[in-house]
Amino acid sequence: MTAAEAMQKKSALREKALNEALQRTAALDEKYPDIAEIDKELSLVSSRIVSAMRSENCEEEINRIKERNLYLQSVRKEKLLSYGIPEDYDTPVFSCPVCGDTGYDGKTFCSCVIKMCAVDAYLSSGLGKALLDQTFENFSLKYYGGKSRDDMSDVLDTCIDFAQNFGTGANLLLTGGTGLGKTHLSSAIAQKVIDKGYTVVYESAQTVFDSYESVRFGRGNDNTDKYITCDLLIIDDLGTEFSTQYTAAVLYQLVNQRLVNGKSLILSTNLGGKELLKRYGDRIYSRLLGSFDTCVFSGNDVRLIKLGE
Ligand SMILES: [Zn+2]
Repeated sequence: MTAAEAMQKKSALREKALNEALQRTAALDEKYPDIAEIDKELSLVSSRIVSAMRSENCEEEINRIKERNLYLQSVRKEKLLSYGIPEDYDTPVFSCPVCGDTGYDGKTFCSCVIKMCAVDAYLSSGLGKALLDQTFENFSLKYYGGKSRDDMSDVLDTCIDFAQNFGTGANLLLTGGTGLGKTHLSSAIAQKVIDKGYTVVYESAQTVFDSYESVRFGRGNDNTDKYITCDLLIIDDLGTEFSTQYTAAVLYQLVNQRLVNGKSLILSTNLGGKELLKRYGDRIYSRLLGSFDTCVFSGNDVRLIKLGE
């Protein structure tokens, strides 16, 4: 969703909240004639101010109207309470209390608008809806025992650091067995980075290689550009793809190009160093050693532990 679309939604929400409040006021006025009388006088305030502005003692007049206005409001409040009705009964209820659904917080777009745009960015990044539930906040170290817990606490810190200081061109290699939280932490990073306004592409290695393969054989549209241009590329499950010499060449080209452009990359893999070296060759391996921070995930398969809970 673009900011303009989000603002349009906001303005519809604001209108709805205002209309509903007006309806509640109308219902009050119908039931309580004394409140209706007050509301009638309150509704004349702005036109009274306008005519007061034309009078000779303009300032004095306006102050008098303002005082009367405050008095009427306090009487109204008391009356409502005496009828057992909350004083804010017909105040508009906005979906965002910060901006009252105007979409602006006084200086710039309100965080509610940024969030509406971000949700869309999450989904277009390739992060599925399910992955959106995987955040730093709900990454639990309780599933890791003994030394693994210390190691994973360091891994978590490294990932949080990466997300917080994103923009420096740093890269991460997340390595370790299945079910140890690599996908969880990569999607947590992706969300934080998107929240900062960067573009993220999150894709499985197989999909990345398939896309290049399609271009190579002239099948379908070329959508590989995003792998080069996005601010953060996350390749999940590296090593599970059908491996050929071609995949190694594609990976080398991709890693190299992103490094040259100072664009960040996260590679997530079940493979250890030796296996990576064997599978992709020493050119990539030396790039990984030189330009990536390695996070080694350890412990027992968290998904199995959760199943047993
Ligand atoms: Zn807002």
